[in-house]
Amino acid sequence: MKPNPVQSENQFGLAWGMDVMRLPCHGTAYFDEQSGISYRCADCGAVVGSIGMPQVCQAEAQKWQLQKALGGTGWDYWSEEI
Ligand SMILES: [Zn+2]
Repeated sequence: MKPNPVQSENQFGLAWGMDVMRLPCHGTAYFDEQSGISYRCADCGAVVGSIGMPQVCQAEAQKWQLQKALGGTGWDYWSEEI
């Protein structure tokens, strides 16, 4: 489910399209103002890159990391496409 861009703010108080990171697990992460350094997945609530991420999310991220390591383009975390 994607947020409606017309609604200016999401549950994290951030406007859609700002500080948004797309995740390979099809989740959307928002900048975590509290930590100031990390992004939090809106789907699972885990901090991106932390051990708190669900296995499926980690597996997807690792898959793309490996693909990039092998010379691929990798995952575009800042893609404008939904
Ligand atoms: Zn996730």
